[in-house]
Amino acid sequence: MQNTGLFHQQAYINGQWLDADSGQVQTILNPATGELLGTVPIMGAAETRKAIEAANNALPAWRAKTAKERSQLLRKWFELMLEHQDELARLMTLEQGKPLAEAKGEILYAASFVEWFAEEAKRVYGDVIPGPQANKRVIVVKQPVGVTAAITPWNFPSSMITRKAAPALAAGCTMVLKPAPQTPYSALALAELAVRAGIPKGVFNVVTGDAIAIGTELTGNPLVRKLSFTGSTQVGRLLMAQCAHDLKKVSLELGGNAPFIVFEDADLDAAVQGAIISKFRNNGQTCVCANRLYVHDKVYDAFVQKLVAAVENFRVGNGMEPETTMGPLIDQNALAKVKSHIEDALEKGARIVTGGKPHALGGTFFEPTVMVDVPVNAIAAKEETFGPLAPVFRFHHEEEAIAYANDTEYGLAAYFYTRDISRVFRVAEALEYGMVGINSGAISTEVAPFGGVKASGLGREGSKYGIEEYIEIKYLSLDI
Ligand code: ADP
Repeated sequence: MQNTGLFHQQAYINGQWLDADSGQVQTILNPATGELLGTVPIMGAAETRKAIEAANNALPAWRAKTAKERSQLLRKWFELMLEHQDELARLMTLEQGKPLAEAKGEILYAASFVEWFAEEAKRVYGDVIPGPQANKRVIVVKQPVGVTAAITPWNFPSSMITRKAAPALAAGCTMVLKPAPQTPYSALALAELAVRAGIPKGVFNVVTGDAIAIGTELTGNPLVRKLSFTGSTQVGRLLMAQCAHDLKKVSLELGGNAPFIVFEDADLDAAVQGAIISKFRNNGQTCVCANRLYVHDKVYDAFVQKLVAAVENFRVGNGMEPETTMGPLIDQNALAKVKSHIEDALEKGARIVTGGKPHALGGTFFEPTVMVDVPVNAIAAKEETFGPLAPVFRFHHEEEAIAYANDTEYGLAAYFYTRDISRVFRVAEALEYGMVGINSGAISTEVAPFGGVKASGLGREGSKYGIEEYIEIKYLSLDI
């Protein structure tokens, strides 16, 4: 691959680009073509420890900077991301597969967190509380939690990093990041831009390699005071347990199983548009993707007809080609999961209306699929498919739809469409989810708190709440 200055094949620790102590590397492939993009070091516990120590050494000077000084450095980082958005997007499409237009969208979304938290850095206010005795003064100050760790997934290779790193750095914390093994180059490009922005060495480190060895060190090293993780519920549970010994703070953004409900009074065209965005963005590989569509019996056929027409407009292909609107799945496991959810639904009596099989392009390309008459006991109703399958279930009453929607261990995002204002509040309040899209299939924005309840995790990212995750409250009791 052409080296444009942002493409690094080494990890970034303490201001240095480094190979693994062992010299071992891992290959990174383009999921659209199978071509070799390059390699990254396979680092383990020893290199991670060095990164943590570097973050710890950098901490005193970084947290001692004024909020305005940190803000200015983050602002510069944001501006560099915008300046290099085309290059960053290209890198992302090459390693992740999403269409270039979507990759550009993600870069802007990723940059928006850096911009937002550059602003929020200056607004970490404390409190003065009226004292309980005449001579007592009660003051609350907010301080950075210290050295933090982040572990991120491959589906949003850039924004999942900035959503953690920007609030951490804004608050005065330092960070060691382990990016997903499939998409290290987007992370390393962000590190390069952090260098160019003037963020001091040790403040932001990127370690690539053995997930278990790195994760064990990040969660086991007492210098790390907080872990922020985005990924599967299974790994989230494990990491939380590993953090229990030191009682590290944790933020977990885990799996979802988003219901998408279309009531009989919905604007069907808007609902179809929302379903397309919510279900098929990033080829169905987002944690807030609509996983199961519940449509009222009265509008079921009309909705399905419009949905199928819209789905048949997708152009599946290599994300680098301008006409592509749907790229490949990340790997063969992802493809096998979509296939198995389709086979299970078919066995239980569902029908395929469009798609249903691997795409003629081969590799990990899959046809965007709509299935109807899917029974509520299908696996696709319980498990996140993480692929381009829209299973459409039928319901008859509002209470039934709410019960189906809540019948899951997950609680990240839910969506519903209605034009009845009473129903808007009734249903929104009844859904056991951290985020609810109402007549909207696109809910992600840096200004709003992103996060889930139940097995979808802990904590919120983005918005004024996002920075709280990186702050400790200290209370000063002063007798005068
Ligand atoms: P996905 O299915 O999206 O890959 P994972 O939860 O497996 O979800 O992965 C998300 C991130 O967690 C990735 O960076 C991955 O390398 C990392 N990861 C997976 N297993 C572990 C582990 N045991 N310890 C630390 N990190 C892990």
